Amino acid sequence: MTVKNVLVVGGGITGTVAAVALAQKGVKVTLAEISPQWYGVGHGITLQGNALRSFKNIGALDRILEKAHGFDDFSMFHASGQLLQGMKVAKTGGEDLFGTMGALRSDLQTVLVDMIHELGVEVRLGTSLESYENKGEVVEVTFNNGNKEEFDLVIAADGIKSKTRKMVGITHDKKPTGLGIWRVVTKRTPEMDCSAVFMGGPEYKAGYTPISKDLCYAYVLTDPVRPNNGLSDFEEMKRLMEGYHGPFDFIRENIQEGDFFSFQEIEWLFVDDEPWHDGRVIVIGDAVHACPPTIAQGGAQCSEDAWVIAEMVTQPGDIEEILKAYTARRLPRLKVVVESTLQLVDWELHPDTEGANPGMLMGKSLAQIAAMPV
Ligand SMILES: Cc1cc2nc3c(=O)[nH]c(=O)nc-3n(C[C@H](O)[C@H](O)[C@H](O)COP(=O)(O)OP(=O)(O)OC[C@H]3O[C@@H](n4cnc5c(N)ncnc54)[C@H](O)[C@@H]3O)c2cc1C
Repeated sequence: MTVKNVLVVGGGITGTVAAVALAQKGVKVTLAEISPQWYGVGHGITLQGNALRSFKNIGALDRILEKAHGFDDFSMFHASGQLLQGMKVAKTGGEDLFGTMGALRSDLQTVLVDMIHELGVEVRLGTSLESYENKGEVVEVTFNNGNKEEFDLVIAADGIKSKTRKMVGITHDKKPTGLGIWRVVTKRTPEMDCSAVFMGGPEYKAGYTPISKDLCYAYVLTDPVRPNNGLSDFEEMKRLMEGYHGPFDFIRENIQEGDFFSFQEIEWLFVDDEPWHDGRVIVIGDAVHACPPTIAQGGAQCSEDAWVIAEMVTQPGDIEEILKAYTARRLPRLKVVVESTLQLVDWELHPDTEGANPGMLMGKSLAQIAAMPV
């Protein structure tokens, strides 16, 4: 085995899946998460089949599906509520898995964190990596409490605002897409049993995904700046939903002040022309490729990054060559995802572009992902 003692930085999807996958292969794993507690993130998430395959690979899928909602269909509506098209989603994780799964992020995190504890990963909350020094066969890390420790490898999965990214010499930084997103977790009807998108309304787009037997999360894609109109989050989201009908009428009429609302600007990043590693420190996940959620592949790609790195760094070989080969293996899939998600953003912003066909591009890129090696 090439590495026996690994530090994972960041406890999001990437860091937790990587920690589980490494620990299952007999690696001693320490996970440093800057947040002082595991926070149950209130959002919902749409996970395509290739994310389900990642969770299956580490034995987490059945546990996640106990609360989440799996399905194979996708509906496109006009904002008026008229159903334009119902279709099967590409099975990006293989024919034996659901095409898509909706989940509450905290339910997903709970399963992964439980597994981390069961596998004996040493979790250090409130801990961050301040600096490192490559020392041949090991890397020496300095933590925020001033302690120094040696590891065979550091896997930094510290998200789009990653500090480790700069430390390893990457010059790329996150950029705005021109879009913002409002989200809410709320009730759904039994008929709202697959992801749906609503086009042609007053905002860029709206949609929902079922995340449990009676909940969904709904979103509205808007301008990237929250208007200063004196409305509460609840009132603003209700206002934004006014132009969307059919199943959206139920969502708008049932959201309440106490529901979980959030607004954020959507940003992106793709490190495609610089190494992701420096010696024995590698940066993965959103920290090197964060894509807009226009085909719901961000988390899925992060989960693939995580199990693939665990598989590769536990094989015999030269670590420098393994880390180079890892990046080369991940880039072609990520290029498809990032390019198509950015094209979809451009068509949202400029819908009159000649040849703009979001439905076709979504289907085509997911089919490509299904066909490519991971
Ligand atoms: C609005 C929106 C909607 C999305 N919807 C979807 C979707 O439906 N489906 C999908 O597949 N993807 C979606 N994504 C993308 C997906 O959320 C991300 O790709 C994924 O969650 C990134 O995981 P990560 O673990 O790499 O990073 P993060 O989730 O950002 O986790 C990074 C972790 O590192 C910690 N950290 C940060 N700095 C340090 C430090 N210095 N030391 C230690 N710890 C640190 C953070 O606290 C955090 O816990 C969406 C993204 C956005 C913005």
